[in-house]
Amino acid sequence: MDFRYTPEQERFREQIRGFLAEHVSEELRHEIATSGHSPGPLGKQFLRLLGERGWLGIGWPREYGGQGRSMIEQTIFYHELDLQDIHYGNLTITSLAMALMKLASEEQRQDYLPRILSGELEICLGYTEPGAGSDLAGITTRALRDGDEYVINGQKVFTTGAHYASHIWLLARSEPDAPRHKGLSVFIFPLATPGVTVRPIFTMEGIRTNEVFLDDVRVPAAAMIGTPGSGFYTAAVALDYERVFMGKYTKLRRNLDALVRECRQVVDGSAPPIDDPVVRDRLVGLHLDVERLRLLCLKSAWMIDQGRVPNAEASAQKVLASELEQRLADEGMRILGPRGQLEYGSPHVPAHGHLAQSWLLSPMLRFGGGANEIQRDIIAQRGLGLPRA
Ligand SMILES: Cc1cc2nc3c(=O)[nH]c(=O)nc-3n(C[C@H](O)[C@H](O)[C@H](O)COP(=O)(O)OP(=O)(O)OC[C@H]3O[C@@H](n4cnc5c(N)ncnc54)[C@H](O)[C@@H]3O)c2cc1C
Repeated sequence: MDFRYTPEQERFREQIRGFLAEHVSEELRHEIATSGHSPGPLGKQFLRLLGERGWLGIGWPREYGGQGRSMIEQTIFYHELDLQDIHYGNLTITSLAMALMKLASEEQRQDYLPRILSGELEICLGYTEPGAGSDLAGITTRALRDGDEYVINGQKVFTTGAHYASHIWLLARSEPDAPRHKGLSVFIFPLATPGVTVRPIFTMEGIRTNEVFLDDVRVPAAAMIGTPGSGFYTAAVALDYERVFMGKYTKLRRNLDALVRECRQVVDGSAPPIDDPVVRDRLVGLHLDVERLRLLCLKSAWMIDQGRVPNAEASAQKVLASELEQRLADEGMRILGPRGQLEYGSPHVPAHGHLAQSWLLSPMLRFGGGANEIQRDIIAQRGLGLPRA
């Protein structure tokens, strides 16, 4: 592949930059920095503007309300948003919808996809259970057929977004007599369905995630995506798309640039950290890895444009992005000293508090979306053709 943008893609990037320069205000950035991951009033207004221009479904086919642009263009779009501190990386649009386009029935696509684009449908992910995380095939939540419905009982944990999403994408055991991997199915249904209880769990960075309890939850059989027993495969495809999106390089580029700017500052009359050759050497190492990640991002987008689902590539991207984020935050804390711990809102905060936030968040990224040890197995087996460990 050619890693350079075509003139048309460059023009598109300029168009987005122009739009963002006009519509992204300090107030919007402040709202995003202080309102967690769900959009506040300014965020909703901004998302509506994006929706009106058809930019939310930029890489979707036109028949489902998208712009039919390439995945490279979608990547450019989300990267430009990130560079402006606009993190409305909506997994529903960038990963679940992609899996729906590949695996759902035409009727389900016509039903869900336009509602996802309009923002009516936001879906959280119900895979992990107290006894099944990396080992997803060990899921015990049951979905048993009863006439035209399934009755679901069980518990999910770490269901991020369940307190504001409208629907859940739930992996449950629907074929109890089938082998472990072949007995699971994915269902989509509203979180407002009777029998669903959501309870909060707070992480050290402040992000809220949830436990979800399912007690005799009745959903129509038509809520199943794919065929009975195909859930493990459906989840794997959606997770590949999720890892591509999680592995974006732009946040790291922004954090590294901010760290370099801080390193040039003289604080309390001391020599600026950039004068230290060890600091310069570490910054160069980080720069090279951020560039490596940028190339991996483009490669995954290009593969999707070729009709392929990045698999070992998505895992490589996710491993590199999560470990690099942690390394970058660690280096930032080491170089900036106690000042580095100041958080957004403090008058003396360096780098807008991004490094401190990243330092608290990044340990979670190494296992959220699938633990990195498991990703390394995927790279070894599916990417390099090595035998199972
Ligand atoms: C903040 C947060 C948000 C999350 N959001 C969601 C969400 O929205 N939806 C959802 O479904 N899940 C979510 N998760 C769950 C996440 O996907 C799981 O934590 C992850 O898959 C690991 O599962 P586990 O926690 O059960 O750990 P385990 O699977 O018990 O793993 C524990 C450790 O053992 C290692 N390990 C396990 N098996 C192997 C193996 N075969 N080889 C080598 N090492 C192994 C792991 O790498 C890890 O280091 C979230 C988690 C967090 C913390």
